[in-house]
This record gives sequence, structure tokens and C-alpha cells, in this order.
Amino acid sequence: MGYAEVSVNSPIAQRNTFSYAIPPNLSIEVGQAVWVPFGDKTLQGIVLELTDYPSVEETKEIAGIIEPRPVLSPSQVLLARWISEHYLSPLFDAVALMLPPGFERKVVTFIYSPLSPQEQDISSLTREQRHVLELVWRQGKVSLRELEKALGARQARVVTAQLIGQGLLAKSYELERVKVKPKRVAYLRLAVKAGEARSEAANLRQKRAVKQAALIDFLAERAEPVPWAEARQRVNCDKAAADALVSKGLVEFQQIEVKREPISYRGIAPSAPPRLTAAQKSALKATKSSLLQVATEQAPPATFLLHGVTGSGKTEVYLQALAEAVRLGKRGIVLVPEIALTPQTIERFASRFPHRVAILHSKLSLGEQFDEWQRIRDGEFDVVIGPRSAIFAPQPELGLIVIDEEHEWTYKQQAKSPRYHARDVAIKLAELTRAVVILGSATPDVETFYHAQRGDYRLLQLPERVVPKEGAPLPQVEVIDLRDELKAGNISTFSRSLSQATDKAVANKEQVILFLNRRGGATFIQCRTCGFVLRCRRCEVPLNYHFAEDVLLCHQCNYRMPVPQTCPQCLSRRIKFLGIGTEKLEKEAGHTFPRARLLRWDSDVTRGRYSHQEILNKFRNHNADILIGTQMVAKGLDLPLVTLVGVISADTSLNFPDFRAGERTFQLLSQVLGRAGRGGPKGQVIIQTYSPTHYAIQTAAKHDYASFYEKEIDYRRQLHNPPFSRLARLVYTHTNDALCQRDAERMKRLLREEIDSKGIDDLSVIGPAPAFIHKLRGRFRWQLILRGSEPSAFLSQIPIPRGWTVDIDPLGLV
Ligand SMILES: [Zn+2]
Ligand SMILES: [Zn+2]
Repeated sequence: MGYAEVSVNSPIAQRNTFSYAIPPNLSIEVGQAVWVPFGDKTLQGIVLELTDYPSVEETKEIAGIIEPRPVLSPSQVLLARWISEHYLSPLFDAVALMLPPGFERKVVTFIYSPLSPQEQDISSLTREQRHVLELVWRQGKVSLRELEKALGARQARVVTAQLIGQGLLAKSYELERVKVKPKRVAYLRLAVKAGEARSEAANLRQKRAVKQAALIDFLAERAEPVPWAEARQRVNCDKAAADALVSKGLVEFQQIEVKREPISYRGIAPSAPPRLTAAQKSALKATKSSLLQVATEQAPPATFLLHGVTGSGKTEVYLQALAEAVRLGKRGIVLVPEIALTPQTIERFASRFPHRVAILHSKLSLGEQFDEWQRIRDGEFDVVIGPRSAIFAPQPELGLIVIDEEHEWTYKQQAKSPRYHARDVAIKLAELTRAVVILGSATPDVETFYHAQRGDYRLLQLPERVVPKEGAPLPQVEVIDLRDELKAGNISTFSRSLSQATDKAVANKEQVILFLNRRGGATFIQCRTCGFVLRCRRCEVPLNYHFAEDVLLCHQCNYRMPVPQTCPQCLSRRIKFLGIGTEKLEKEAGHTFPRARLLRWDSDVTRGRYSHQEILNKFRNHNADILIGTQMVAKGLDLPLVTLVGVISADTSLNFPDFRAGERTFQLLSQVLGRAGRGGPKGQVIIQTYSPTHYAIQTAAKHDYASFYEKEIDYRRQLHNPPFSRLARLVYTHTNDALCQRDAERMKRLLREEIDSKGIDDLSVIGPAPAFIHKLRGRFRWQLILRGSEPSAFLSQIPIPRGWTVDIDPLGLV
């Protein structure tokens, strides 16, 4: 008899598998979805391992198979185990990442008869029992719900339980079917012969029914029915014209069922690869040769860091590397940070691999996601594109993984377990499947670049812009010292330079982006005269201002102080300056630039499926002169009319209370800089700041990643932050604030004791302190930070009490 180790869909299961015996009539494979008895319930489970001996003395049997085909591949099984161990998440949470969409659906209980009617003696049964048996015999199997409808809930349960007890009936379980409605599209076709139609068209023209005539002529040219949407667009006619023709009996509508395709290929023509620059060629050569070496088993696959300035043609390298992988019989997965914002990228992939591109994202309906998942598993696509979760797509013969904009924070799942980083998961998956990885970025994550410097990854550089044309200059950058503006008597939000440049651009019918970063609502107190920001003396991070208590607070060590009346540095009384929000900025811009048409783009404005695209289209069609926006405007948008980008305040991200604030500022500024001058030679950026000499601003203004990296990695080394350590963030929540703090302190003592007793000397515990978001949905939150070489391994040995969540490799400390 064989045994299976099963990950069970129950919160009690945590990081464990459970042993089950495999009944002789079932053939079980690794990765298969099964029904297992668990306590008094029957639950879903995934088989992770087959063994000859069980890990416990007494085992129950697997109750049945959910689907004959395994839902997880052998490498996905290993990946799920790694995620659970590394991120300390329940095992089934990790498994669930890879299940088909909607897998955790409702379970339907069926009743069937294990014996044939001839084998049964029903003479001693009651009338109700016989009635139920006959019902089951007649239909083969009946859902419990149906029986309840027929007999009433109580009686159905009692009678079936009696019959099951006598061995006359048995239960089985099935998942509720995913309901996918077929997609139907309206088509239009002629109801008469083409010749007759044409003469009718001539008649209609005489009667001045021009649109009706044009529609008939259009249809007469086509042998096949035409999608109504296409006909309407081509002929530029309305529904009334078509309806008029229908009533005359000349044309008719038809509903035709079509295959769902999340990409609309209308307007996308297949395209051939363009000529490459020397730098692109050499990057491509390196990736191609690694793909070939893997295919011929000469070398293990490499992980590449493709570092290219904005507009240097990284996507072209991805596309051609992918074509090579396909040529070698492999397939790819491409991760992009925010799918809704990158239709241009999708179009490029779709035109190079027509009808061979799968798109996965959460805006698809469950049915659409399910369809797409099945088709991916069947090998219908060369490439799967999607956000971080697309790394779990069941793409067979995986040969290449591309992570575009690898530094983006959206690759980390923060809100729920498992709190994984898609980049680290991708590198693990590549190791398990022997796939090549390309990490692409204009501003690589400092940790990624560190690995490239050490030789863990291979560094490929694209130093030149190819957009708008080869060798195009990067935009001119001017850094404005806001202290000088105040000295000169300018108290407006706009420096003299920025307002002059904006006036000029608008007068020239060019476009302007005003960028304002207000990430996560961090509020710091800044002196408007000298730019001084109050920081924690112990942690060196800016203190966060809390309106309600009028107090300054360190979210790492809980240090508190009142707001001073004067600036400790210059004694100015203009100390309590809190910056500005997008709405207020829009108002001020309205006063300063009365003739310009303004458009605001932030998360308050965009809540809906198409609103990002609508705002973007409005701006691209030049229905506005100035776009005021937050982080969203920094993403890879191609807006050729934009010649000026103004950064209202670089200090907001610089003074975010976290050790990654400098890196984040550099990344944001570099991205924003990349938006200017994509359509032609002119491109200008103005950065306003109180810290004009800060290295993140200086190096971003000079487009100098190397210098930024040198400075940043020095600080990381000095303060023992990643990549020189690893972090774990533990957050405790409770409805009572004082209790929450007390439990967090108790946890700290426990961790300290464990560290001491095990003699670990490189692990430190920081805090407890109130979390940056101190109260969430009625619960208070306190946090502890663990810093050292292996916090995850250490924590895996400790039972974590209820109420705590653990985030391994968190994005930030607050
Ligand atoms: Zn000051
Ligand atoms: Zn502190």
C-alpha cells in the first residue's frame, strides 16, 4: 500500500502536510487534487509527495480524486514548499497560488448507490427510505440539495444518513462547475444577393439615405458576415441605419459564438523585429547563448540584469530573447508591474507573437481567468504576460522568465499571506525548471545590482536611448533650491523657473506634467526657511507627524517628541510646514496658469475599469495642457507632446521614514525624468527641493545610476541594512492599544531569550513601536523588526502566537 503526503485546505494545517493511505482503486500522482477526510469534514487537498511509509502510525484513506489531471507540476510542488518555508506561510496558502482560478469553490455533495438494485434487499425499509433509494437508482446519483428539495431538508438528511449507515447509499463530492458563458458577438450580413443589394444601394443614395447605402455597399464586398462593431466603425454609420435596412429586409443580424481572447487584435498588425543597436545586440547575444547552452545541457541557466536607461529598448531584447526560446521549443512568462497601465507593452508582444500571447489579470472575470488558465496549461501560448501572480501560471516547457521594471514594489505581495516577492519566487522557479531569467530596469533595485556586481547575476547594459531616436539626448534637468525662492520673496508652490517654463510650454502648445508624490500619507515637519527635517536620534529616520496628538513619532523605536516652536537649526518660526496635496495643487495651478487646461490623475479620480485609460487618452489627444498626478504619471507612459516635467517636491519621498527612502526617490525621479522629451529633441525637467545636495537628487538629475549606487550601498553597509542583512517584520494587532503594546513587548522578550539561548550573535530585535498605520479597521497595530543573516530560519523554529503576522523581506520598516 502506498501513502501520500497531502497539503490540506484547512487553517489548522499550517505549514504541515498530512499522511493518507492510497486506496487500491485510485491511481494518485504528485500534484493531484484529492478529497481527504479531515476531522469530521471532507476537504480539498493537493498531493505533494508519494511515500512507501506514512509519517504517522494511523492514517485515513484518500476519499477521492477531484480532477484526473494533476493541477500542480512537480516543480510547482517544490516551489510551493519553498514559499511556505521561506515566507513562513501556511502550506495551502502557497499551494493555492498555483491552483486554477476558482478552484476553492463550493463543494457539492452527491448521494449514489454503491450496489446495483438487484443486490439490495429493500423489504425491511420504510416507505421514505425506499422512495429515496428509487430516486437515486433512477438518476445514478443525486445531489443532496436536490433530495432536500424533494423531501424537505430535515427528512432528506435523516433518511440518507440511515441508508448510508446500512451501506445502501454512499456520499461523493464534486466541485461546483465554473460557469463560463459562451461569448456571442453580433454580426451583420446581406439578406439578399449582392447584385440586388447594390441596385438597392443606388436607390437609397437617390433618397439621400447615404449611410444605409454605404453600409450595403460595404457588406456587398464581403462574402462573409461582418462583426457589427467593425462595420459600424468602417462605414461610420449608426444603429438606426442598420435597423432601417433590417426592416426593409435587405440585411440581417446574427449572433455568432466566438472564442474569448482577452487581447483585441483589431488594429494590431503582425510585425517584424527592427534593427538593433550595438548594445542591444550584445545583450541579446548573451541571453541567446545562455538559452542555447541550457538547451544543449552545456551550462546551467543564467540570471541576467538588463540595466538600460529609459527608452533604451529593453523590450526589444525581451522580445527577441523570447523568439529564441520559442525557436528552441520553450515558452516564457513576462511579468509587468501594473498591467492596466501598460497596453502599449501588450500590443508589442501581441504583434510579434500573434494569437500566442496570454494575458492574466484580475480584471478578467472568473470564467475568463479559468479559460485562460486551461489554455495555458494545454500549451496554447508562447508567452504569458501578467502582474506578479502570473509567475504561477501553468506554463509548460518554461524556458525564459522576464521581469520588467524589476525594482517595482508591486512585485511584493504585502496585504495577505504568503507575503512573497515575485522576483525571488521567479529566481527559485527558474532554478527548479532550468529557465533563464532577465531582470530589466532603468533603476535596478540596489540589492539586485549588488548581486550583479558580485557575479551572482550577469550584468548587461544599454546606456543609450533609442526613443525617440538612436542616441537621443536625455532631458535637461534643473534642481531648484526652494530656500532661495523663499529668500527672494516667492511663497508660491511654484518656483520662478517652473512657472516661467510652464507658461512657455503651454504657449507653444506643448504639454506639461506636474508630479507630486505623497506616498502612504507620510507627514513630516519641515522648516520652510532652511529645509531642516526632524529625525529620530537613534534610528536616523524622519519623525512622522500625528495630527490627532500633535506629536512627532519614530515608527521604528517609538521615540516621541512635541513639535518645536522654532527650527532647531536656523531658529526660524516657519517650522511646521507639511507640504501640499494634489487637490490643493490643482487649485493653485489654476490660479497661476489661468489659461492652461488642467487634468488631475490620482487614485481619488481613478476608480473604475477604464478610467486610467480615459484620463490618459484625454491627455494624449491634447484635451489638456497640464497633467497633475502622483506616482501613476511616472510609469512607462509614452507622451510625445510632453516637453516639461515639474517635480513639485522631491522631499516628500526623500523624508519617508524608511531606509529605502533614498533609493525610492532616485527611482521615482529617474522615471519621471524619462517622461520628458520622448517626442523630440526638447525635454526639460525641473526638480524643486529643500535638499538640493542630497545624493539621490544629485545623481538622478545627472542620470547617474553608478554614483547613486556607490553612495547608497555604502549607507546600507554602515547601517547593516539589506543586502548586508535580511529583515523580518512582525506585526501584532489587537482592539486594545495598551494590551497590544504589552503583548508586543512580551514577544520581544521571548525573541531575545531565544536568541540568547541559541547563542545567535548577529540577530537584533528593533522596537516594539506603533506601526506606521497604527489603527486599521478598528484594530491597533504594533510591530517588531528582526534584523540579521537568517531571520526566517530563526522564526521558523518559534511558534508564532495568534494575532501576529510575519513579513519576511519586507519592503520597508514602517
Ligand atoms: Zn530652519
Ligand atoms: Zn527611532
